[in-house]
Amino acid sequence: MRRALDEAAEAVRGGDVPVGAVVLAEDGTVLATGHNEREAGGDPTAHAEVLALRRAAAGLGQWRLAGCTLVVTLEPCTMCAGAIQQSRVDRLVYGARDEKAGAAGSLWDLLRDRRLNHRPEVIEGVLAEECARLLTEFFRTR
Ligand SMILES: [Zn+2]
Repeated sequence: MRRALDEAAEAVRGGDVPVGAVVLAEDGTVLATGHNEREAGGDPTAHAEVLALRRAAAGLGQWRLAGCTLVVTLEPCTMCAGAIQQSRVDRLVYGARDEKAGAAGSLWDLLRDRRLNHRPEVIEGVLAEECARLLTEFFRTR
């Protein structure tokens, strides 16, 4: 999560909301990182999670990320929860909850929906205060 927080700080440079993500292999090796680049790239889908998942898959040469863990500073939105589900990662670890748009326990709980055949383990609240503080500070300066 510390690595994801470093990534989140990078997002601010491009004028983006500070959210950072890291994809870890089964042995804990960092496969890829990502931070929000929506403003920087003018891309509505350039959320930290999507970018990190794409890079991890590109690095491994396959879309299926079974065995991997995605760590992200903020609870994923519906798009990212969908991408997480599609990527087949085994585990999602996130920091702060997103009560306004979260799709992993707050507004929706897509990843633990029993109607889906792939349901990754979800661990929330890791360094939650630090992750949330970064966001609060960002929005305060706007
Ligand atoms: Zn998202």
